[in-house]
Amino acid sequence: MVSLSDMTVKKFRHPSKLDLGHKKFEIVQQSLKKESLYGCVEFSKSKITIDPNMSPEDYRSTLLHEICHVGLDLFGLGDDDEMPSFGNEYITAVTSNMMVLLAGLNPELFSFIFSPTNSRHAPVEGHESPRPSRKSDCPKSGH
Ligand SMILES: [Zn+2]
Repeated sequence: MVSLSDMTVKKFRHPSKLDLGHKKFEIVQQSLKKESLYGCVEFSKSKITIDPNMSPEDYRSTLLHEICHVGLDLFGLGDDDEMPSFGNEYITAVTSNMMVLLAGLNPELFSFIFSPTNSRHAPVEGHESPRPSRKSDCPKSGH
């Protein structure tokens, strides 16, 4: 069964939740054209929104970009104005621990992101309409 709203926007097939272990973020595929964004995180709503109207390559990297925002926030690296100073060893430990944790908790989602030739993950319908001038994310509302 396909609803009318599903027919107007092409969607990528992947899990609709990002599991952080202690809670989950919803992943919504929805046009962000009005906001001039490719993707964004709303921490107060535990929600990631990605605009599916882009190439599979751009979609995957945008999804990973937003997941990294959530993951780094989980490790205490939230707002830019609260950023501590750190060196290579610290940011490497945070990044590698974050990726191992999130990839382990979300195997299907990361398989989608890192399996670019897997045709099962191709867009369901529609065609490419890249908007290269748009930014990749939005302010973290309520955080
Ligand atoms: Zn960003």
